[in-house]
Amino acid sequence: MKVIVVGGGIGGLSLALSLHQAGIAVRVYEAVGELVPLGVGINLQPTAVRELTELGLADELARTGIATQRLSYFNKFGQSIWSEPRGLSAGYKWPQYSIHRGQLQMLLLRTVRERIGRDNVRSGWRLISFAQDGGRVIATFKGGGSATSAADDADILVGADGIYSTVRRQLYVDEGEPRFAQQLLWRGAIDAESFLGGATMIIAGHFDQRIVVYPMGRGAKAGHLLTNWVCQMTVSDRSLPREDWNRKAGKDRALAAFARWRLPWLDMPALIRDTPDVYEFPLVDRDPVQAWSFGRVTLIGDAAHPMHPTGSQAGSQAVVDARALTAALLATTDPIEALARYDAERRPAMNEVTLRNRRFGPEAAMQLAEERAPGGFDRIEDVVSRDELEAAVASFSSAAGLDAAVVNSRPSFVPLTGQPDHEPTGS
Ligand SMILES: Cc1cc2nc3c(=O)[nH]c(=O)nc-3n(C[C@H](O)[C@H](O)[C@H](O)COP(=O)(O)OP(=O)(O)OC[C@H]3O[C@@H](n4cnc5c(N)ncnc54)[C@H](O)[C@@H]3O)c2cc1C
Repeated sequence: MKVIVVGGGIGGLSLALSLHQAGIAVRVYEAVGELVPLGVGINLQPTAVRELTELGLADELARTGIATQRLSYFNKFGQSIWSEPRGLSAGYKWPQYSIHRGQLQMLLLRTVRERIGRDNVRSGWRLISFAQDGGRVIATFKGGGSATSAADDADILVGADGIYSTVRRQLYVDEGEPRFAQQLLWRGAIDAESFLGGATMIIAGHFDQRIVVYPMGRGAKAGHLLTNWVCQMTVSDRSLPREDWNRKAGKDRALAAFARWRLPWLDMPALIRDTPDVYEFPLVDRDPVQAWSFGRVTLIGDAAHPMHPTGSQAGSQAVVDARALTAALLATTDPIEALARYDAERRPAMNEVTLRNRRFGPEAAMQLAEERAPGGFDRIEDVVSRDELEAAVASFSSAAGLDAAVVNSRPSFVPLTGQPDHEPTGS
């Protein structure tokens, strides 16, 4: 069996590694000519770290990212609403990593090239269209440094080509542009003094205005860490600015909006001011669809379920998609049946997470605190009960397949070969 993967992002490269491990021939096509480490921070939940560990990447991940130990929610004054252990500290057998998205992509790319051969990673080739004919999928690409076209064929084609997926557009011709949630995100990465012990992700504020800050790599100076920050707020702009992860923006708008966000242990205006490059990004997703698999063609990652970043799910779920798809292909010799199985297993849960993220996902507790005590509080228990806080967090976790007991005990998607790297880091 041969699989064409369209897109060399986090999902596509994870799928290439996974298929190769399962003994399935794979070729990746990536539109960008030379991949360079783009993006800022991304979070890999233990469910995804488990899969990447089973692909032999545990040591590289540990060297590159920060094993996040806590997630803490605060109001806009920095008063604590909720704090929970994460990763190994929460009883998972695998850590949660906060990591630079570009560094993660480069790590995956390097490994894919080593394992499947450079010839099978074709960068600079953009998928234009595909057709299913006589038990094959024929894909047409443009690129190669000129206006050249090329065709390739395989048993299966997987669209791992992100939120503007060409594969999805051919399957859903009338879908149009992503859905703009009338919020903007300003994002940056900076070498900064570590806060709250150096392994805590913080989210502060409420639905209309909030910050997300976490360390994601080693710092250049002692006591410093490479730190990811996001400032997110509701805006009156109605039209959708083109989503581009790398669109640089001026700092004025973010600085004006977050000028007073000086938390006891984090000076947000200073962080914005000191960050060399600030990126602006619209909050977008797409409505869930009724099918990802159409015969020999399917979707994974953002092409399948583009979602808001609430709950830090997109990268992790793309990795899990890749593994679930591999498992489905191993379970039957019929590719069409395999893709249908994968769709039935993954799509309902991802559709649910996409919709929950629109409603603020696990961060709903912060909105309760803001609505009931906009001027702050002495004790969170007087404002939001422990039961309400737990309910907001726990129901999301189980919908997203993140419960520690589930992640720790589910069988491996792909049978393990017993290499040392396949052992959980924390056990
Ligand atoms: C440049 C970039 C920077 C990002 N930065 C961040 C970040 O800082 N934080 C964060 O949380 N998320 C970031 N994301 C999104 C994040 O990577 C995804 O939400 C998540 O990891 C799911 O990954 P994916 O592989 O499904 O999609 P993506 O990571 O978006 O990858 C899709 C890939 O498909 C390629 N592609 C698109 N169209 C075609 C085509 N027609 N033919 C061939 N290839 C095609 C794209 O060039 C891209 O490499 C970024 C995405 C990109 C593309």
